[in-house]
Amino acid sequence: MAEERVTSILKKSQLSVTDSRRVILDIFLQSGNALAHHDIEARTGEKYDRVTVYRTLQSFMEKGIIHTIPTTDNSVKYALCRDECEEGHHHDNHIHFICESCGTTTCMEEIIVPLIQLPKGYRASQINMVVNGMCNKCK
Ligand SMILES: [Zn+2]
Ligand SMILES: [Zn+2]
Ligand SMILES: [Zn+2]
Repeated sequence: MAEERVTSILKKSQLSVTDSRRVILDIFLQSGNALAHHDIEARTGEKYDRVTVYRTLQSFMEKGIIHTIPTTDNSVKYALCRDECEEGHHHDNHIHFICESCGTTTCMEEIIVPLIQLPKGYRASQINMVVNGMCNKCK
């Protein structure tokens, strides 16, 4: 089943089904949480080098399969997008929750980032809202 989902997402995004794309997309589907580059490397073992993982993530981002989440230590995490994201056009205007206890980052897709009023002459292209605290598993 997961296999079918992986293949259909890649097909829909017009990406050829390569081994690394298949495996890395499957890791996202299994995980449910946002993943850092090193999480993905840890789960693929020594199978792919850094560049392969990086390129695979880049192609997923360009195609609207995953989006990035900034973290407090200036690194980045990746999470699956919903269906409405497409090539070159993301709609990930939800907040992200980072648990201070277990470190997981969760997409809260039902909570939309509130519109903010910027001073005249400023135009936002993206708003990231990250909430830190304790998740429901750590409470
Ligand atoms: Zn997206
Ligand atoms: Zn937690
Ligand atoms: Zn998200």
